[in-house]
Amino acid sequence: MVLGPARPGRSAPRLLENVLEHDPSIPGKQALSDDFSPLTAHVGHKHTLHQITEICTLPLYAGSPLNDRYTIASICEECRLHVTLIVDCTPDPRSDRPPRPCPTADNPLHFFTYCPSASTPFYGNDDRWEETRVFRCVGDDCPVEVTVKTTSPYINERLRLLLMDKPTLRERQNEFIQKNKEQIDPSSKIHTDDLPGRALETMLSYLKNAKRGDDRSIPRANKRYNTFLTDECAELFERAGFQSNEQANEWIPPSLGQFEPLFWMYNETLLLSVQNPKGFKSAPVKDGYVPAISAMKTILRCKEYESIRPRLDLGGKDMTRYYAALGILPDFSDQLVIWAFKRQILCDVQSRPYLLESLENISHQRGTEVLQIEVATQRSQGAYTSGDAYEAARRLGITNLESAEEGLIIGLFKSRLADSPRQEYQLREDLSIIGRYRNSTAILEVAQQTSFPTAKSACDWLTVPEDTEDSMILSMYAARVAEFPGDEAAAKAAVRKIGEYRNSSVLLSFVETGLFVEAPPDIGQAFATLGVEDRTMDDDTLITVFGMRYMDMPGQVHDLRNALRAIGTERNSKQILDYLSTGETATTGPGSSDSPVGLENIGNTCYLNSLLQFYFTIKPLREMILNLEAYEETDVNDDVVDRKRVGGRKVSRQEIERAKKFAGHLRTLFQDLIATKMTSVAPQRDLAYLALVSSKDEEAERRKSVEASKPETIDLSNTDDAMDIDTPINGPNVADDAVSEDTLVGDSQDQPSSHAHNELPSYNSVGSDYVMVDVDAKIPPSNDKESLMPLKVPKDTEKSVGGDSLIQQTVALSEDTVLADAPEGVPLTPPPDIPERPPPIPPRPQIKKRESSAGDLMFGRQQDVTECIGNVMFQLESAIRPTEIDSHGEQMDLIKEYFYGTTKQTLTFPNSEEIRTKEELFNHLIVNVAESDEDIYSALDSSFDVEQVDLEGRSAKRFLSLGRLPPILQIQVQRVQFDREKGSAYKAHAHLNFPETIFMDRYMDTDTVPDLKERREKAWEWKQELKDLLKRKIELTNTSAGVDVPTVLDAAKEMLEDYELIDPSLATENARSSLQRRLAEIKQELSDIAERVTLLESQLANQFADLRSHGYRIHSVFIHRGTVSFGHYWIYIYDFQRHMWRKYNDERVTEVIDPQEIFTTAPNDHQPPTPYFLVFIREDQAEAITEAVKREIGDSTPPDFNLAPLV
Ligand SMILES: [Zn+2]
Ligand SMILES: [Zn+2]
Repeated sequence: MVLGPARPGRSAPRLLENVLEHDPSIPGKQALSDDFSPLTAHVGHKHTLHQITEICTLPLYAGSPLNDRYTIASICEECRLHVTLIVDCTPDPRSDRPPRPCPTADNPLHFFTYCPSASTPFYGNDDRWEETRVFRCVGDDCPVEVTVKTTSPYINERLRLLLMDKPTLRERQNEFIQKNKEQIDPSSKIHTDDLPGRALETMLSYLKNAKRGDDRSIPRANKRYNTFLTDECAELFERAGFQSNEQANEWIPPSLGQFEPLFWMYNETLLLSVQNPKGFKSAPVKDGYVPAISAMKTILRCKEYESIRPRLDLGGKDMTRYYAALGILPDFSDQLVIWAFKRQILCDVQSRPYLLESLENISHQRGTEVLQIEVATQRSQGAYTSGDAYEAARRLGITNLESAEEGLIIGLFKSRLADSPRQEYQLREDLSIIGRYRNSTAILEVAQQTSFPTAKSACDWLTVPEDTEDSMILSMYAARVAEFPGDEAAAKAAVRKIGEYRNSSVLLSFVETGLFVEAPPDIGQAFATLGVEDRTMDDDTLITVFGMRYMDMPGQVHDLRNALRAIGTERNSKQILDYLSTGETATTGPGSSDSPVGLENIGNTCYLNSLLQFYFTIKPLREMILNLEAYEETDVNDDVVDRKRVGGRKVSRQEIERAKKFAGHLRTLFQDLIATKMTSVAPQRDLAYLALVSSKDEEAERRKSVEASKPETIDLSNTDDAMDIDTPINGPNVADDAVSEDTLVGDSQDQPSSHAHNELPSYNSVGSDYVMVDVDAKIPPSNDKESLMPLKVPKDTEKSVGGDSLIQQTVALSEDTVLADAPEGVPLTPPPDIPERPPPIPPRPQIKKRESSAGDLMFGRQQDVTECIGNVMFQLESAIRPTEIDSHGEQMDLIKEYFYGTTKQTLTFPNSEEIRTKEELFNHLIVNVAESDEDIYSALDSSFDVEQVDLEGRSAKRFLSLGRLPPILQIQVQRVQFDREKGSAYKAHAHLNFPETIFMDRYMDTDTVPDLKERREKAWEWKQELKDLLKRKIELTNTSAGVDVPTVLDAAKEMLEDYELIDPSLATENARSSLQRRLAEIKQELSDIAERVTLLESQLANQFADLRSHGYRIHSVFIHRGTVSFGHYWIYIYDFQRHMWRKYNDERVTEVIDPQEIFTTAPNDHQPPTPYFLVFIREDQAEAITEAVKREIGDSTPPDFNLAPLV
């Protein structure tokens, strides 16, 4: 970016707006000048421009890259002003850096400043003038230069009168009649009122013919010419490029290549004609009018930007000037407002007070938190508004801030200070603002001469108790300076005072050298400081943890760094030490075209990066996002809102708009992942926010925050990566669900029907099978039913299971009443009890509170992976148009096609023909992992196997099958379990064994595969038998004495024999032999059981082994490592094109050398990394619908930048 002298800039939309307001010939309407006042913005009219298409140069086709020089010549339909916009996107040949035209990740729009040296100001006179203004984009390496050329109408007032002044025209006609008395019938004389029309029509027909390429000359002797125009109008012909042939007495049309003036003249004449159609023989028609504005937006690349509906009701022109000051329009989104504000400061730092004032006013007008936070942040960094400066002056008793003498100001300050020493810091801050406002070094020096009379006053100022440890004092120092850079001198003085008082070499050497000289913490202390229990945690994860702790408590950065350094030194880890010195992990650098791009961790966004990487590799989904225009709901009108049903509920207009915004952000991310030159990119905070926070959460949070002031987030256990991916957290609604579950099956003794807040229900036992059936209403635990609600679309339902209760439940959830039901004041997601807490956090400066707000909602709340997936899917579906609507009104679309299958629940009754079935959509299956290692089939079986249920007073059998299988099969692995004794949640670390390919045949709807039903029934029988056998075995082997039955009998026999030796009369032969017999029987039974169990197990293993037509290949494995409260997430994704696995660990994407790390668990790892979500892809489609690597580096144009067709 090359910056000339400070001058305000403007975003592309603002520039365009100004072009429409600009008229160099009218004072007060010179909207393209830097000192233009928006208060006069609409003096007269806003131009309505249409293209002079013949002289426009536009991109060849929609979507062609904007890397050339484009011209749009246009004319105002009202005032005929000529406006030519030239956008030059060709790279600057003098620059050796590759061009990066906006929009880029940093600069969503061009931001232009006026370039006087390249411009030609107003030139000419009233009769004819022109002006050229050049603007350059200040975006880093953006080569775009815009030229706006404004030219007076060719047909100025003097010339217009030649064509339209009635007395002149009457005179002309009379003269002609006079000259040609003989040939002319005086009664054919044309009425004066019609003469302007005739003159225009004549002129227009000459111009039109010439414009069509008719090169015949116009004889000046012809009747029409002589009646309506005559040589008086010669100047008009000359302006249009005609040449006079005096000898032949004719006008020669302009030659090829010199048509430009002709086009302008033609269009001007046409406009005059349309405005004055009276007298025309055939009425003039506006033909070929193409509005210019849309094409201008296209070449300025501001056709679409993040916008809101501006609030016209407030502020009026007063507000307009604040928007103008930032170079933006009132419809800019908050994020864009902030972006422009920062851009504008770079362009015009001297105006910073006024810019902040503008931002503050916009923030007040909109009342949005994002803007309020930005204003507060700016202030905390020493920015101030002119209002602040006046306020400071008022407090110091300075009446005339602009002209008061420096000496007077300093004198007033000193006398105030003497009067109220306790307000010293406020007074100094005031003086400092005034010093900066007046740009006065003398005043600033005085403002910064801080002195602390006592160590206590210094501690007070740092907001720490007097006995605070040295290291903590330095942390507070760092926090204060990070927060308020302007406080550096004062903070240093405070540290010096405390250091002198304590004679602390740590503090004093810091003041003198700026270095912390202190003993490194011991290693145990270091882990404790980072809140890490597991000392074997790898370097990567430790760095991630450090990052998260830092985000949470920036004030403790010093202690956190020391802790990390201590561990790094202890381990001799180059990675950690490099990270500490560079702030980067080693692998960041230029990316390559055959490797995927990593996603930086932008905070505690948990598994979101994994999820985004996964979606990126799903080709149809990715292509849909990249070509969003072709899919999204474009015009969100009432009809659309009316028909929109996703997940069995209506979607509001706001939700559709929000969803579109989300999809738009996702597109930006995908484009970045394709085009970035680096190895990693950072997802936008907005994307993370919209993905993690559902519209309902947002609403609930908004309500909550209205009620209560926001608490500071201190409790670590309540933040970050708690592994709540599938914690059945007790939202207020879980109880409801459990109750309806009761009604449904009546055998839920294992399911608590209601829970206290800190109690977590366990789903790992008997109930787990039927959990699958209706589960989705309950398992995805959250108060957010909307995003979790699986689709309940009963089809061919005779009558739903359990009477109507399920349906009622479904209906109830579909209504938008969820929020209203939730008890107010209940935390969104009560945290589970955490056995060991990280060390308590020392007090932070009060000011920290300002910062926590928007982020809390996003990062502070606990997250659930299915909730997040549900939210993402819901929003994607809400953003796009349905391909079809099913009989229940539910939207069918690409998401449903690829991610949704159907399950069929069958219910049979003994001694009855009655069979009930119910079909439902699902997007993921759930398997439980509890105590012992398990195989994926047996885990899935628990969802599909038959079970006995009580229904309407009779017993019934219920089982689940798969109807339609989706191309992408998602399986959630339920690992969070609940320890009733301890009363807390824990993560089950048992191993789940899954092969690369699984076959779903055995679960298919039995009506469609012959003999499958018999096979399944046989398997169920065997399993029942197995269960009974195992139960019997337990009876035989477990006794209350803790010893198995054969051992007891053996012992008894021995005892009898002993007794017999002592006193033969005590024992009888009978007793001994019956004992002997019994023992033999039991041993035999146990051996029979063992044999039978082996047989059954092998039969079960082979029962479906030959069914292999529904094969699914493993594609993604989502991994969590850590405890229920804390940990790290990454994902393994298989590349079906290159036949390899990759590990996506935030910004690092690495090839997996030994895939065993994905499928097995290292022995002796008591907290192994565990999969919590698996994605399988249909074997025969795996290569077609997945693509792990999609890179087009260096194409600076976003790959699917769409131009609307230019007519
Ligand atoms: Zn105009
Ligand atoms: Zn630019």
